[in-house]
Amino acid sequence: MTTIFDILKKTKKDNCGKCGFPTCMAFAAAVHTGGAPISRCPFIEGVSDEGPRRGTMDDPETALAKELKERVRDIDLKERSEGLGGEVVEIDGEMALKLRYLGEDIFISPKKVFRRDGKELEPRDQILLYNYLFFGGKGELSGEFVGLESFPNSISKVVTLKRYTEDKIASHFSSRPDELKKVCERLGGKEIAPCHADVCIFIRVLPKVPIEIHFWDEDKEDGFPAKVKVLFDKRALDFLDIESLIFSAERLAETITETS
Ligand code: SF4
Repeated sequence: MTTIFDILKKTKKDNCGKCGFPTCMAFAAAVHTGGAPISRCPFIEGVSDEGPRRGTMDDPETALAKELKERVRDIDLKERSEGLGGEVVEIDGEMALKLRYLGEDIFISPKKVFRRDGKELEPRDQILLYNYLFFGGKGELSGEFVGLESFPNSISKVVTLKRYTEDKIASHFSSRPDELKKVCERLGGKEIAPCHADVCIFIRVLPKVPIEIHFWDEDKEDGFPAKVKVLFDKRALDFLDIESLIFSAERLAETITETS
C-alpha cells in the first residue's frame, strides 16, 4: 500500500508551494486521502492520477497522524523518555510518555496523544508529537541559537516561518511588548538579558525544542512596524525534521496570540 511517506519521497521536498499546498507533507497527505491529484506537483514525473481513494473518510492531517501512530507504535517509550525530556507514567491503567508541550502536560500512549482530562489533541499536534517521538531525541542541545536560514535546504521555508510565525507575533504584540513577556511567562518562557532587541524570550515548545523570540517594537516616529526574529537551537534537527520544527514555531505563535 502506498503511504504518505512514499508520496512525499517523490516530491522535491522543498515546500515550493506550486501545488497549492504550503508544504510537501500537506500535499502528500492530501494525495493519499484523495484530496488532490498527484499531478499537481510538477516535479513528480511518470505518474498518473489514480483518483480519490474509495472508503477514505479522513482529512489529510488525520490520515497522516494515523500513519505516524503506526510508525511509533512499537517504540519503547521508557528507552526514549530521557532523550526526549519526558517521563513514562501510568495513566488510566496505561503506560504513556508524559511531556511538557506548550506549557501543559500531554501524554503519548501507543493508542493516542491526549491531555490529562483524556481529550485527544488535534491531529496536527499529534503529527508534531509523533515526529518528536520518532526522532528519539539523540544527544544534547547546543545552547547556541541560529536562524532557520542556517539549516540546510531551508531557503524556501524561511518565507513560511516569516509569514505564519514571525509576522504573526510581530503584528499581534505591536506596541504591547509587556503582554508578549507575560503570555510567554505563563507558558514557562523566560526573558533573556541582555537583549539586543526590545524583548528577547527563551521558551520551550517541547523539552528539547527551545525557541528564542526576538521582538523589536514598532517605531511610530520613523514608520517602522514591529519585527520578530525566531531562532532555533543549532542542533534542533537532531530532535525534529525541519517541517515539524517550523510547525512547532507556528503552534507557539498561535498559542501566544490566541491567549492574549
Ligand atoms: S509542488 Fe508541492 S509537493 Fe511539489 S515540491 Fe512543491 S510544495 Fe512540494
